[in-house]
Amino acid sequence: MAPVSTELKGKYVLVINAGSSSFKTQILSCDNEKPILAVLAERIGSDNGRIIFKINPDTDKEDKQAFDVVYKNHGDGIRDMMKRIVDMGILPNFDSIVASGHRVLMGGPNYAEVKVDATVKQVIRDYIPLGPLHNPGNLACIEVIEEILPGVPAVAVFDTGFHTTMPNYAYTYAIPQEYSKKYSLRRYGFHGISHKYVSKTAAKFLGKDNFTGVCCHLGNGCSITAIKDGKCIDTTMGLTPLEGLLMGTRCGDIDASLPLFLMEQEGISPSDMSDILNKKSGLKALTGSNDMRDVESMCEKGDENAILANNIFNYRVIKYIGAYLAVLGGKVDGILFTGGIGENSPINRAPICKAFENFGLELDEEKNKVRSGEPREITKAGSKIKALVVPTNEELEIMQTTLKILGY
Ligand code: ADP
Repeated sequence: MAPVSTELKGKYVLVINAGSSSFKTQILSCDNEKPILAVLAERIGSDNGRIIFKINPDTDKEDKQAFDVVYKNHGDGIRDMMKRIVDMGILPNFDSIVASGHRVLMGGPNYAEVKVDATVKQVIRDYIPLGPLHNPGNLACIEVIEEILPGVPAVAVFDTGFHTTMPNYAYTYAIPQEYSKKYSLRRYGFHGISHKYVSKTAAKFLGKDNFTGVCCHLGNGCSITAIKDGKCIDTTMGLTPLEGLLMGTRCGDIDASLPLFLMEQEGISPSDMSDILNKKSGLKALTGSNDMRDVESMCEKGDENAILANNIFNYRVIKYIGAYLAVLGGKVDGILFTGGIGENSPINRAPICKAFENFGLELDEEKNKVRSGEPREITKAGSKIKALVVPTNEELEIMQTTLKILGY
């Protein structure tokens, strides 16, 4: 990390990463970029919510405290969390917080990372129709933090931001363009904060200024991005996170006629169809579990559905890596794996990497099995295409971006 400016000594950045019914928060120290607190609030909007505080996470002094809560909405949850931070003595007050950084799902084609003002809030509002489950909660978090921390600047870091550099032939859908214009329909891509952090970290690891290659974020949600000189040129997720790879509960690519057929045959409404494709498909539909660890243990027992699901999962990843190697003209620094599956599943990484043996990727089976929280190479020395595992850290990326945007 860069040396800390005197203004930032002893100061903190508050990072908020809100999902549709949850939020994660970290308070990161500007002295060493490490969190002094990590919070997870789950099941917002239900009467069996939970908030978990990890004080001094990732150290041997970690203190975990969990509370049953009922939060009507994200704003409620943020207010309660901030009160508990002082009540629990984690910070005496908020005077040491210099900025807040917020992950926001949808920022449209023009915004990547920006200091929050009235215009930016309007952009977040304008994109609510395309990010109905996230943008309202993201905006609520920003507004409540503004209330609690008056005068402390806030930065919005959009999950779509890293993908705003895609060329028009990668993001345009070939439908009547009056609809595209009227409703801003195009590929936006998601997981941008993770793809940016991981590709930046890989460039540093490889001793390059910028990364060129393919970045695979394989978690509950999965996406792959083609990156040229540090910039995104294509990505598998589309207008929404539904497109592309097979995921925990999302189907990924399917013929657009399929949902239309089912809606007609079964009288299914648009919102129920969206639920089926986003929440009841993917690994869950094929195996009964959306968790890759369960799928792997079912595979070990010879479960045919799990084996099929795993084969589809890996096949799609291989297909898109191959496509993006072609898009990048075959000249790449490497292939990156991140996300819960990408970071922790040698069983999935091995067949994916082996598919590229004839392209010059030589997997090192032993390195592939090593467990570590550090960026690492899993190919043999001299492999023409390198494969790296790079743990993602969206909160750190948001913190660094927030300070950069504010001119620190
Ligand atoms: P999210 O997209 O919700 O942030 P994560 O990146 O945490 O999710 O990824 C969750 C996925 O990672 C789950 O499918 C989980 O089973 C998988 N995963 C986590 N650890 C392992 C592991 N050791 N082996 C295989 N899969 C794993």
